[in-house]
Amino acid sequence: MKKYRGTIDEQVIEAWAAKTARFNRSYGRAQVILFIALLGVVVFLFYAPSSLLTALAFFLGFALVILKLHAKANLLCPNCNRPPDGHFARGTAGDSDMCVHCYYWLRRPWPKSES
Ligand SMILES: [Zn+2]
Repeated sequence: MKKYRGTIDEQVIEAWAAKTARFNRSYGRAQVILFIALLGVVVFLFYAPSSLLTALAFFLGFALVILKLHAKANLLCPNCNRPPDGHFARGTAGDSDMCVHCYYWLRRPWPKSES
């Protein structure tokens, strides 16, 4: 039986918060724009099928996948420098609370207490 024993390190938590914030600023918007563009192209294709737009839709989808892979390769655990949710996990690493490799918390598991 595997026991999860988390380590809480303020420095790791802060480094992770800074990392995800910087990342969302540069890539979050690009991802939303790409996604909306892709949706727009696909919807348009239903009304006016064209090979050029089909190619464009494929290109946009491809760009989204690249962006996702890029996110995975760049959002690494501040403590052990590995993707915190494992290499084959779905979704972006930005959502993870804890690194599966070193068991360091990436977010505070509970709000900071006043005491
Ligand atoms: Zn780690």
